[in-house]
Amino acid sequence: MQPKMLIDGKLVEGDFSLDVVNPATAMSFATCGRASAQQLEAAVDAARRSQPAWARLTFAQRGKYLERLCDAIEARTGEFARLLTLEQGKPLRQARSEISGGLVRFRYFAALDCPPVVLRDNEREQIVQEHVPLGVIAAITPWNFPFSLLISKIAPGLIAGNTIVAKPAPTTPLTTLLLGEVAAGILPPGVLNVIVDANDLGSRLTAHPDIAKVGFTGSTETGKRVMQAAAQSLKRLTLELGGNDAAIVLDDAELGTVARQVFEAAMVNAGQVCLAAKRVYVPSGMFDAFFDELAQLARSVIVGDGLDEKTQMGPLQNQQQYEKVLKLIESARLAGAEIAGGCSRDGPGYFIAPAIVRGLTDDAELVRTEQFGPVMPVLAYETVDEVVERANATPFGLGATVWTSDYRRGADIARRLEVGTAWVNRHLHLAPDVPFGGAKESGLGHENGIEGLKGVMQLKILNIEKGAAQGARPGARQNQV
Ligand code: ADP
Repeated sequence: MQPKMLIDGKLVEGDFSLDVVNPATAMSFATCGRASAQQLEAAVDAARRSQPAWARLTFAQRGKYLERLCDAIEARTGEFARLLTLEQGKPLRQARSEISGGLVRFRYFAALDCPPVVLRDNEREQIVQEHVPLGVIAAITPWNFPFSLLISKIAPGLIAGNTIVAKPAPTTPLTTLLLGEVAAGILPPGVLNVIVDANDLGSRLTAHPDIAKVGFTGSTETGKRVMQAAAQSLKRLTLELGGNDAAIVLDDAELGTVARQVFEAAMVNAGQVCLAAKRVYVPSGMFDAFFDELAQLARSVIVGDGLDEKTQMGPLQNQQQYEKVLKLIESARLAGAEIAGGCSRDGPGYFIAPAIVRGLTDDAELVRTEQFGPVMPVLAYETVDEVVERANATPFGLGATVWTSDYRRGADIARRLEVGTAWVNRHLHLAPDVPFGGAKESGLGHENGIEGLKGVMQLKILNIEKGAAQGARPGARQNQV
């Protein structure tokens, strides 16, 4: 059966269809519905019409709906995880943890409230600060974490009283469609709508006058286009964009343990993580030993089809990304770099074995740009001041890591890094209650935490003169601007 889209509470066929490719075989394995511009309009219209009634419910009432949705997804975790592996490529174990981690975040938001704050209340006046929903939110997601990044947008959006039009990336639509199918029997019609495109409807959605906010995760380049389209109606925006995170190893770091952690920070999800470690800086005195340790780790990884439980790293998600990463490896080779690993596999599928690269300078393409693949350039440094300057010399500012035996020393350096999150001795630690967002060209706004909730709400002031019915008092205009 063809997976269907969710529009106005109904599961509908697309006016068009879309083939979905399994990156482990490079073959199409499913065909799903794909929206026409009219279907997009129907989805936005349904979301707009259902929003006032959804917003009139209390947080607790909406929370009950969301809890039921979480329970229903959880009951089908196996099915979600398998589909995620099939369309995205990641190993099943990682797919399961993406589903379970996403549900933890969903339940965190389902339990939240955002009560008004009374700023002043006396015999003369009352001033209250409230947060009210924005309206309809477009949730636009990428192909690296199709489930968890969707939850980051719909969970705060819905609990706050907004309604949603969700649009997954065209290469990974199926888990989002399955979530829509599950939600169809639980949420009131129109509250959550799921449409699929072929990279052709994003600009229409982000320019739509009835969309109040765009929650977007994707590349910096596309994020800038989203911002331009949204400017027309001054939409609210949360943009989670690209990164080129530096991992800084200090000279007191315990080599073996830290090499393993840095390797993991760079290679998880085959390096297709916005905040993966994308360039590693190592003191020149320990450079050779550190590089050898990383190369050893690279050789030991089992690369294969994510459905095989033995697989530790799956394929790249799509052909375009696969070719881009191979080209980056080739350009490093041409620049005279030494590369450990990094071969593509014979036969079908977008597989690239982990590659550790040395001998590049900071201006090499692989160091400057976001590779988004299992390729890690390792660079030597002499002093802390120098490495901080080199780490900051990028338009990106998503995350960074510092690795040391002395966490206080690490924290001092972390404070100097121009990023949204600076980790010391840990990585990819993203808790539902901890805001996450990028500095510089890595993003705008935050997801997760109370900041994430406030990001999908309008701060509204209720300013009441209690004696107003008796007419203005002398001096009442004094504070006007
Ligand atoms: P990639 O280039 O790796 O495919 P993108 O950042 O372009 O990553 O894609 C992230 C999401 O943005 C996807 O859902 C994609 O369909 C969507 N998208 C692509 N172009 C636009 C656009 N102009 N406006 C809004 N969304 C877009």
